[in-house]
Amino acid sequence: MREVSELNAALDAHAIVAVTDARGVILRVNDKFCAISGYAREELVGSTHRVIHSGRHPESFFAEMWRCIAGGQVWHGEICNRARDGALYWVSTTIVPFLDADGRPEQYIAIRTDITQRKRAEEEAQRMAFFDTLTGLPNRRLMHDRLEQLLGRTRRHGLPGALVLIDLDNFKEVNDTLGHGQGDALLRLVAQRLQSCVRRSDTVARLGGDEFVLLLGDLGADLSAATLRAADLGEKLRRILEQPYFLDGDRVHAALSAGVVLLQGRDESVDQVLSQADMALYKAKGAGGNQVCFFDPALQADVNARAGLLADLRQAQARGELRLYFQPIVQADRQVGGFEALLRWVHPVRGLVSPADFIPLAEQSGLILPIGQWVLDQACAQLARWAQGPATRGWTLAVNVSARQFRDDGFVPSVQRALACSGADPHRLRLELTESMLHADLDATIARMAALRRVGVRFALDDFGTGYSSLSYLKRLPLDQLKIDKSFVAEITTDPDDAAIARTIVSLARSLRLRVVAEGVETEGQFAFLRRIGCHGYQGYLFAAPQPLHDAVRSAGVAPGALQSPDSSATPLRAALAQ
Ligand code: C2E
Ligand code: MG
Ligand code: MG
Repeated sequence: MREVSELNAALDAHAIVAVTDARGVILRVNDKFCAISGYAREELVGSTHRVIHSGRHPESFFAEMWRCIAGGQVWHGEICNRARDGALYWVSTTIVPFLDADGRPEQYIAIRTDITQRKRAEEEAQRMAFFDTLTGLPNRRLMHDRLEQLLGRTRRHGLPGALVLIDLDNFKEVNDTLGHGQGDALLRLVAQRLQSCVRRSDTVARLGGDEFVLLLGDLGADLSAATLRAADLGEKLRRILEQPYFLDGDRVHAALSAGVVLLQGRDESVDQVLSQADMALYKAKGAGGNQVCFFDPALQADVNARAGLLADLRQAQARGELRLYFQPIVQADRQVGGFEALLRWVHPVRGLVSPADFIPLAEQSGLILPIGQWVLDQACAQLARWAQGPATRGWTLAVNVSARQFRDDGFVPSVQRALACSGADPHRLRLELTESMLHADLDATIARMAALRRVGVRFALDDFGTGYSSLSYLKRLPLDQLKIDKSFVAEITTDPDDAAIARTIVSLARSLRLRVVAEGVETEGQFAFLRRIGCHGYQGYLFAAPQPLHDAVRSAGVAPGALQSPDSSATPLRAALAQ
C-alpha cells in the first residue's frame, strides 16, 4: 500500500492526471489538472473532457484516439486544450486503459505534461520561417505557396487573378541619406499602405529589400474585366505610394514601379509568372519609374488606349465635343410622344465614340458627374424650348442616368436646379435608371426617386429583363415605365422564348400599373407583335435612329421652329412612312 501511495504522490507531483470511466466521464482529477485548466474539481468530475476542447483538432483526431484506447491500447499524442479563461495550453498526453476481467476497458487514466512553452517556440519558429520580421507580411516562401494556390484556383474556376511585383524607386537613396533605421520605418509604412489598397483575401508579401508582391484573386468574370480592375488598382497603388511619408520630421518620397501579370488559369507555373512580372517591372523602371506596366503587350496596349481615351474625355466637355442625339419614342399609331436623349462624343481623331465605350470610363473616373449634369441641363433647356411650340409642347424627354450619378448626394438637387434654371416642366422629364443601380440601398433609392417624383419627374426602368429583378422591389419603387430591352425584341417574332418574355413583361407591367416601352424595334413584324401584346411605346430604327436635334425634330414631321396646330401633342412620323 505504501509503495502505491508513494507512486501516486510522485505522479501527482509531476503530471496532470485524470481518471475516467469507460464512457469518458471524469471520475477523479489531481490538483495540477485543476490548476492548468482553471476549473474546480466539482466542475470537472461528472463531465467529460469536452469542457476543455479547444476546437483546434478535427473530430477525426478524437475518433482515432477512442478507437485506440477502446481497443485496449495505450495512446500517446499532443493535444491543445482550452482553459476556463479561454487561454489555450498544450499537453503531451498518454492514456492508459484499465481492463476488466474480460479484457474490456473499464477505466482510463490520462497522464499529461504541459508542453505549451515548447509549442509556442515552435509556432514562433514557424512564423519566422514564413513571415517577414520587419513588416509582419508573408515572406517569399509563403508567397510562393500562396501563388501556387492562387494559380490552382484560377485554373479550376477560370476566374482571372493577378500578380503585382513592386519595387520602390528610390529606396537606396533613403537608406543612404537617412540611415537604415529610417529605411526600415519607411518599409513598414509602405507595407501598411499596400495592405490598405487590397481586400483581406488578397496577399501582400515582402520578398526582401524594397520588393513587395501583391496576389489578387477573383478580379472579374473575364480577362478584360480583370485587366481593367488590375489597371485601376495599379493606378491606385501608384497614387497612394507617391504621397509623401513623414519619418521623424523628414518628408520622404518613395514612388513605386510595378509589373503586373494577369493569371488566366492556363498552365502557368510559379517561376514563369515571377519572371514575367520581373520583365514587366524592368519595363516600368526603364520607362523612368513611378509607373505600372503589364507583362502582356496586348493588355498594355489596351491599358494605354484606355488611359488615352480618359485623358481625351477629360477635355471633351470643354472642347464642345459632347452632343446629344435624339431618338423618338412613338405610340401605337406611330405618332411621336417624346424622345430619348442619347449622348455622343465627337472625337477629333476617332470620330463618333459610342456611349457604350465611354460611359463606363466616365463612371469609373467620376467624370460622369459633370457630364451627366451637362446632359441634364441640355435636356431641360430643350424641354423648355419645346414648351414654346404647340406641336412640340407635349413631348417628353428621357434622360439616362448612370449608377454613380444617381448615388451621388448632389443628384436630386442637381435635377431640381436644371429644371429651375431652364423653366422646363418636370412632368415632361423622364429619368431612365437601370436595374443594377437600384439594389444597393433600396430605401435610399426610393427616397431619392420620391423626392423627384414629388416635383413631377417620372422614372423608367431601362434595359428591363437584363439585370436581376426582384418583384418585391419592382412593387416598392415609384416607377412609371418599364423599357423592354432590345435583346428580347430582336428575336421576338422568331424565338418563342423571347416572345413569351415580352408578353410576360407587358402583363407584369400592366398589373403594376406601369407603362411599357419596347426598345430596338427594327421591323414591321416586331412592331405588329408588340402592338398586339399591348405595349404603350415603341422606339427603334424602324421609326428613326438617334439623330442630332434638328434632324430628329424634322423626322418627327415638325419643321424646326415652325408653328403647328395648337393642340396636337403627338405628331405623325413621316420619316417612318417613307422607309
Ligand atoms: P439605352 O438607354 O438602352 O439606349 C438605347 C440604345 O439602343 C441606344 O444606344 C440606341 O442608339 C440603341 N438603339 C435604338 N434603336 C435601336 C434599334 O432599333 N436597334 C438597335 N440594335 N439599337 C437601337 P446608344 O445610343 O449607343 O447608347 C447606349 C447606351 O449608353 C444607352 O442605352 C444608355 O444606357 C447609355 N447612354 C446614352 N446616353 C447616355 C447619357 O447621357 N448618360 C448616361 N449615363 N448613359 C447614356
Ligand atoms: Mg435609355
Ligand atoms: Mg435600353
